[in-house]
Amino acid sequence: MTGEMGDGGPERELSELVELLRSLIRIKSVNPPGDEILAARHLEQVFSEEGIRATVVEPFPGRGSIVARVHGDGSGGDPLLLLSHLDVVPAEPKGWRHDPFGGDLADGYVWGRGAVDMKSMVAMEVQVMRRLARAARDAGRSPATDPIPGLRRDVVFCSTADEEAGGWHGAGWLVDKHPEWLRAAGALNEAGGIAITYAGTRFYPIQVAEKGFAVYTIHVKGRSGHGSVPTEDNAAVLAAQVVMRLAEPGPTRLTEAITASFSRALPHLPAAAQAALNGLASAAPARIEATLRDLCDPVLARTLSAVIRDTVSVGIVKAGLKYNIIPGSAEIVIDCRTLPGTDEPSMRKELGRRIGPDLLSRVEIELQQVGPAVQAPLDSPLYLLLEDVIASRDPDGVPLPFLAPFATDAKHLARIGVPTYGFSPLRVGPGDGLLELMHGEDERVSVQALAFGLPALWDAVTRFCGSPAAA
Ligand SMILES: [Zn+2]
Repeated sequence: MTGEMGDGGPERELSELVELLRSLIRIKSVNPPGDEILAARHLEQVFSEEGIRATVVEPFPGRGSIVARVHGDGSGGDPLLLLSHLDVVPAEPKGWRHDPFGGDLADGYVWGRGAVDMKSMVAMEVQVMRRLARAARDAGRSPATDPIPGLRRDVVFCSTADEEAGGWHGAGWLVDKHPEWLRAAGALNEAGGIAITYAGTRFYPIQVAEKGFAVYTIHVKGRSGHGSVPTEDNAAVLAAQVVMRLAEPGPTRLTEAITASFSRALPHLPAAAQAALNGLASAAPARIEATLRDLCDPVLARTLSAVIRDTVSVGIVKAGLKYNIIPGSAEIVIDCRTLPGTDEPSMRKELGRRIGPDLLSRVEIELQQVGPAVQAPLDSPLYLLLEDVIASRDPDGVPLPFLAPFATDAKHLARIGVPTYGFSPLRVGPGDGLLELMHGEDERVSVQALAFGLPALWDAVTRFCGSPAAA
């Protein structure tokens, strides 16, 4: 780490970070039901030991979020927000090598649900706050009230409930009720800055954008009858045809983030991958799928396929009451993920194109939920600084902007104009990546990856907000 170590040192800070992460994993904040309040109270205690003032909110029973702030003198501009979420997705212990809620430290890894998504980042952010508070105390100031010498902006920590289920009981509620707590020049959040090794090069995708979503119910109209005489009006059969057509990969479109990402990656790729990327915009969808499968492992191929097009995933198909009754109606629920620039009417139009005129007359498409894609600027000082932090901490690594195919709390922050970047830096080896481990079995993070991440996050915060050591 740059700057002074206060009363600790990198070793002590790292072991504090590891212990904090282990304690967070042991708090079972599984959503549903959430119970994030337990994690929020735990962090409140950690902050109080450092003299940092924190506010815990619990707008719905058990659904706790926490906000804390340390002060700069304001000369650098608006605050920096360190954003994260406290909830995790469920985990069945069967299939895991370690208890998913045990927080084991074994073979150089911290094991458990949330190790990657995203209690490691929560812990790194807390550790940065701790260190800022210690700098205040070293200078004879109170971290609760006084500006920290050398810090030119406030640093706000916010860890939320409910991100894994849309965030409406966490970040969504905070943005609606207490936007002033969260207003910032920019936010650092999950799902970026985590190394992906491809063809021997470590790439660090930094999330600058994320796809939007639109959920539809498609009502299929047939005609019921007796099962002894099959008909072409069987709604289950019609629904099956609709499902097959929806599942075909649609046309591709390269958005700003992906174009920038590919051009940054290009010089570091083998010739075959270069040729494929260059031809991506013009190739036929089926050909693109085949090329991605040839060039990448299946997880990466699927991810790339999802970030270059609007996707349709069939989630629920329902038809029929009894084996000998021909269903008169069927229902299909689909999850569409939209690129920046695709609005709801154009998504609906694409559904119509895929379903085709012959079947379109048999269906009614009903919108259930919609949320726009978000995009943060690629040329902001904060983004450029994040790339530079990665480049200086891993000179062989290649930072690049990226569009996430999934949604995060960045959506809620976008509603109050806070640009959010996915930057939870971890230098992980092949096989330990976000794409493999997120929401999967044996979720784990290496202590080595954390030893890279904490100083990288510290660099990002102090280069943007001012270094307390400079006082
Ligand atoms: Zn997450």
